[in-house]
Amino acid sequence: MKKETKYIFVVGGVISGVGKGITSSSLGLILKNRGLNVTSIKIDPYVNVDAGTMNPVEHGEVFVLNDGDETDQDMGNYERFLDIDLTRINYMTTGRVYQSVIEKERNLEYAGKCVQVVPHIPIEIVNRIKKAAENASADVAVIEIGGTVGEYENILFLEAARMMKIERPRDVLFVMVSYLPTPSKVGEMKTKPTQHAVRALNTSGIQPDILIARADVALDDKRKEKLSFHCNMYPDRVISAPDVDSIYDIPLNFEKEKLSDKLCDILDIKAEKPNASAWNKWKKFAKHAHNGKETVKIAMVGKYFETGDFVLSDSYLSVIEAIKYSAYIQNRKPVISWLNSVDFEKSLAKLKELKNYDGIIVPGGFGKRGVEGNLQVVKFARENKIPYFGLCYGMQMMVIEYARNVLGLKDANTKEVNPSAKNIVIDVMESQKENLINKRYGGSMRLGAYKALLKDGSIARASYGKKEVMERHRHRYEVNPSYIQELEAQGLVFSGRSPDGNLMEIAELPKSTHPFFLGTQFHPEFLARPLSPHPLFTAFIKACIGEK
Ligand code: GLN
Repeated sequence: MKKETKYIFVVGGVISGVGKGITSSSLGLILKNRGLNVTSIKIDPYVNVDAGTMNPVEHGEVFVLNDGDETDQDMGNYERFLDIDLTRINYMTTGRVYQSVIEKERNLEYAGKCVQVVPHIPIEIVNRIKKAAENASADVAVIEIGGTVGEYENILFLEAARMMKIERPRDVLFVMVSYLPTPSKVGEMKTKPTQHAVRALNTSGIQPDILIARADVALDDKRKEKLSFHCNMYPDRVISAPDVDSIYDIPLNFEKEKLSDKLCDILDIKAEKPNASAWNKWKKFAKHAHNGKETVKIAMVGKYFETGDFVLSDSYLSVIEAIKYSAYIQNRKPVISWLNSVDFEKSLAKLKELKNYDGIIVPGGFGKRGVEGNLQVVKFARENKIPYFGLCYGMQMMVIEYARNVLGLKDANTKEVNPSAKNIVIDVMESQKENLINKRYGGSMRLGAYKALLKDGSIARASYGKKEVMERHRHRYEVNPSYIQELEAQGLVFSGRSPDGNLMEIAELPKSTHPFFLGTQFHPEFLARPLSPHPLFTAFIKACIGEK
């Protein structure tokens, strides 16, 4: 008999940003570690069909899946914690749900019925959740509902969850991740906002089974009792989740509270004992975050991190994690500084500061702003032999800089920035021209996993240790084929190409010229995983360490 999938819904209370994504990822991991096949689903309540059309400052990183879906950064967290590859059915937004309901209506798939917000929208949501679980042959699906309970946006998703609970009471479990503030003038941790949040959830017909209590410090017994009493919970199902230095400790902390046992108990899952060898690997990895006295200092030069008076590094989350994994295995603590590319346009003196870093990364980006600053940074890194790693836009910058300063093509540029430049060394891809003319921007870039072939004897080839790789992409522009010969004649090596040889996937300078000057048209950061760091990030960090 086929076992029924179990569904764990994760919702948030009180404030956003309390770590629902990491909680969901960690729940998945502790269950996977019990021999269960786990898949993860993210629900974002906004109307955008995907995250691809949003500014990263607005939304955080756009995480790209193998199949090219442009999703939320939490999808990256799930993939990294669980070491799985997700697909577009694992991600949904209000826009995506409505879009398919409207399409079905246009195709007469509702057989003449009046199509209503309730129940047809929640039914579509339920179907999508089941489909994702089925595609993954999941024993357990962890579904994170974005937003905070009590807000208008996620009501229909909560309604879908409630419907699933009625349909299969033994197979559905609710986890609420809530926040307990300790106001500085009061000096005491307060449970009232969480009590209200649970009541708000109750008004949707849902009672949490597990409460993850996020706070600066651990919950004391008094607070546990209060929450249990007022929120209608068994005391042992109120889980203390104090702030931690490293997110990778969270699954370990959950297991200290025997959370996987509790989940299996409530859902009536007969799971294996925790897999000791897998767990030890994770423990060893998680410990790295606390070891490594020696640092490796990385300058990240970008533009998507200023929001008012705050710096929000979320826009480059996967890059940060990729750096960590590769630094940890070399017993280094990465120290990342956020430098605004625009600042390098105003002051050339600022370039000298770059000497304080072991390496420089220019990550992905779009549009004009900051480009001239980026180009100054690339030039400085090349001339001063500072390890440089360019990701997508960062690779295109490398090529432009090389064309300008080595080939002497002073006005070299990307068409994205200056369409009337004489030397368009980075051009719109042929396949993208129609999209731009017709203003078809959503989900239309060259997206997802494509193969690249690596050149023998190159840094790329040596780093990967193989000839053929699959990497994830998100771009509209490419190295203009008419300049390749000249660029290569002057020393730039295109060490990765698409199988037909036409698209330049990796550019580098030979080791004899520069310790590490390499850029990728793809985004290697999307495939870096805690227990399998990305080879190019590892090669970059090695170069950073070696130079000093
Ligand atoms: N804007 C560039 C392009 O579309 C680079 C994109 C990126 O960095 N992801 O090709």
